Amino acid sequence: MSAAAYDALVVGAGIVGAACADEFVRRGMRVAVIDRDGIGSGATAAGMGHIVVMDDSEAQFALTHYSQQLWQQLRNDLPDDVEYEPCGTIWVAADEEEMIEVRRKRDYYDKRGVSTEVLGPQDLQRLEPNLRPRLAGGLLVPEDAVLYPPCAARFLLERAQQGGAELRLGCSVAHIGEGQVRLSNNSVISAEVIVNATGANAPDLTPGLEIKKRKGHLVITDRYPGFVRHQLVELGYLKSAHSVRSDSVAFNVQRRRTGQVLIGSSRQYGAEHTDVDAAVLSRMLQRAQEYMPALGAMSALRTWTGFRAATPDKLPLIGPWPGDKSVFVASGHEGLGVTTSLATARILADQITGAKSEIPIEPYLPSRVAARTNSC
Ligand SMILES: Cc1cc2nc3c(=O)[nH]c(=O)nc-3n(C[C@H](O)[C@H](O)[C@H](O)COP(=O)(O)OP(=O)(O)OC[C@H]3O[C@@H](n4cnc5c(N)ncnc54)[C@H](O)[C@@H]3O)c2cc1C
Repeated sequence: MSAAAYDALVVGAGIVGAACADEFVRRGMRVAVIDRDGIGSGATAAGMGHIVVMDDSEAQFALTHYSQQLWQQLRNDLPDDVEYEPCGTIWVAADEEEMIEVRRKRDYYDKRGVSTEVLGPQDLQRLEPNLRPRLAGGLLVPEDAVLYPPCAARFLLERAQQGGAELRLGCSVAHIGEGQVRLSNNSVISAEVIVNATGANAPDLTPGLEIKKRKGHLVITDRYPGFVRHQLVELGYLKSAHSVRSDSVAFNVQRRRTGQVLIGSSRQYGAEHTDVDAAVLSRMLQRAQEYMPALGAMSALRTWTGFRAATPDKLPLIGPWPGDKSVFVASGHEGLGVTTSLATARILADQITGAKSEIPIEPYLPSRVAARTNSC
């Protein structure tokens, strides 16, 4: 039995910290979770909750696909307020050039066992009548889903608490290292393992982590049941999400169970304030209306912003932090942290307990960033 107060202390009660706590408890560990605010109050409260398989790289595919399957396994346990909807994604192709990308994506997914359906213009119009006419088609990925992230985080944390985890909210952490967490009131808690799951703020506690804040805007409308039936994303989204420099907007629209329409999304570096940027918002809504003209007549209820935790190679950081064997990182999930939270928790718990993981863990190890930091 270790002398430390906990086997694992998770800093951050967002979706990633919540998933880690839940998984650690399942593995029989003594766990505490600390957050300076409330449950799911960071990016988790700001995000879209699209559970999506992505193919930017083999490593991104492996993590998103593994995690999508874990969400599917969990779906019957999720309470109603998590609003898990297996609505699928349609990647919308505006022209023939984007249809080439549709077929490339279809081939990639087919080879890896993800079912898809290529849609022609009529199929697209039938499935989503409020899209503008004369789009070229799209790719339906039926196993993608959407959910409401703050309630998913709360569900995972409550389950962890039922298994014995302790939750301390309203406690700001000032320092982590050498088996200790120091709170800003100077009290100290010991743990065998400390997990930095503080999202875009992770470098504050682990200097040297290459994570930048990438701001995003979202708008939610009044209730318009049936207006949109899937998560709709323009194929150009991939270009904007992958750009590591410029600001961008893309058509990305989600149906909510309430009948509301969630409209995204934008990406900005170097904007550290939470204010809504009128110019970015107007570009984003303009883009959405180009794809769904009737959106222009809808009433918007709320607009907000949030920060994605972006890494230079677009992969999250999951694993031990070199130089301090008590510190582990689970951050840098950019726009996929809701999707990949469950898989993150699994592979982090595997590393801590010495278990073999379902997918190769090397692409996500923080040592790749530490190596770059040390060589500068
Ligand atoms: C506009 C937008 C749209 C998105 N859409 C999607 C999507 O459709 N699908 C998807 O998968 N992902 C999406 N994401 C990304 C997703 O929301 C994030 O990757 C995910 O929520 C990150 O969760 P997290 O737990 O790592 O971080 P967070 O949710 O940010 O949680 C970090 C927690 O750490 C706490 N904290 C920070 N510093 C300290 C400290 N010093 N002491 C104590 N506590 C601290 C904070 O209070 C916070 O609660 C989107 C993000 C944005 C901004």
